[in-house]
Amino acid sequence: MVYDIIIAGAGAAGLTASMYAQRAGLNSLVIEKLFVGGQTATTFEIENYPGFLEVSGPDLMDKFHQHAKKFGSTIINAEITELILDQELKTVKTTAGDFSAKAIIIATGAKPRNLNVSGEQELAGRGVSYCATCDGAFYRKKTTAVVGGGNTAVEDAIFLSRLCEKVYLVHRRDAFRADKSLVTKLHEIKNIELVLNAVPVEIQGSEFVTALSVQNADLTNQRKLDVDGVFVAVGITPNNQLAKDILKLDEQGYIITDERLMTSIKGVFAAGDIRNTPLRQIVTAAADGAIAAYSASQYLAEL
Ligand code: NAP
Repeated sequence: MVYDIIIAGAGAAGLTASMYAQRAGLNSLVIEKLFVGGQTATTFEIENYPGFLEVSGPDLMDKFHQHAKKFGSTIINAEITELILDQELKTVKTTAGDFSAKAIIIATGAKPRNLNVSGEQELAGRGVSYCATCDGAFYRKKTTAVVGGGNTAVEDAIFLSRLCEKVYLVHRRDAFRADKSLVTKLHEIKNIELVLNAVPVEIQGSEFVTALSVQNADLTNQRKLDVDGVFVAVGITPNNQLAKDILKLDEQGYIITDERLMTSIKGVFAAGDIRNTPLRQIVTAAADGAIAAYSASQYLAEL
C-alpha cells in the first residue's frame, strides 16, 4: 500500500499534521518510536497554549490524539531505521516493516541535551534524570538540584518544589532565559534556593546520587550540594539521526526548511522542534504540522 503522506513522530507537530492530512482527504500514516505526545507529554503544566488557561502536558496531548483519531489517523508504534527519499516514491524502513509514501513529514522533535560532567552517564537513572515530570515522584520529601536557566529548568524547579523538601536551581549566569512570568513565580517559592553563576563540575555517588559539585563561573569557589537527585535541563538537541546525511541541516543540526516547510528534498517536509525555527513551543509545533500537511497536499496535487 502506498500512503499519500507518512509522518515521522507523534508529538504536537506530527499529530496536527495527521489531523490536517486526514481532513484534506489524504491517506496518512504516523509512525512513533516511543509514546504519543512527544516532549509535551512529559510537561507537567502548560500555561501558554491558547484556549487552555492551565492544562497538563499529558492531558493536552491526549486531546490532540483523540482529535487526530476522530479524523481517522492511523498511528503505529515502530522505530524508523532509514528514510530513502531520493525517488518520487519515498520508502520508510521501520522495525515493523517497510512503508511507502508520496510525501514525508519529519516531526521527530528534539531530546534533552547532556550536561557532560563526570558522574552524569554513570548515575543516569540512579539519581540523574532528564524529565522532572516523569521521575519527580521518586524524590518526594528529598533534596534535588535542577541545572539550567531556560523554561524547562525553571518549570522543573517549580514542579519539584511541590514534592521535594528542598530544590537547588543551578544556573551558570545570574539572569534567566526563561519567560518572565515563570521567573516571577520562581522567586516566590521558599524551598527553592538559587545557585547562580555556578557551573556543575561533577555528580557524585556510588550507587545513587549523593551530591552535585558546582564551581563559580569565575572558578574562584567550589561548593558541594548534598542532593538525592539531579535534573538536567540544559537545552535540547534535534532528533535528526534519520535526516543527518540526506537533508540540509543548520549548524546546530536542525533541518532547514523553506516557508512552506519543504526541506532540501522535494516532497519531504519538516515540522516542529526538529526544524530551524526561531521559537519552539507547542503552539508553533502545531502550526508547523498544519502548514506541512497543507504544503504536502499541494505538492501531491501538483505531482
Ligand atoms: P534553553 O531555552 O535552550 O535553555 C537551556 C539553559 O541551559 C540555558 O539557561 C543555558 O544557559 C543552560 N545551559 C546550556 N548548556 C549548559 C551547560 N553545559 N551547563 C550549564 N548550563 C547550560 O532550553 P529549554 O529550557 O530546554 O527549552 C528548549 C525550548 O523549549 C526553548 O525554546 C523553550 O522556550 C521551549 N520551552 C518552552 C516552554 C514553555 O513555553 N512553557 C517550556 C519548556 C520549554 P544560558 O542561558 O547561559 O545559555
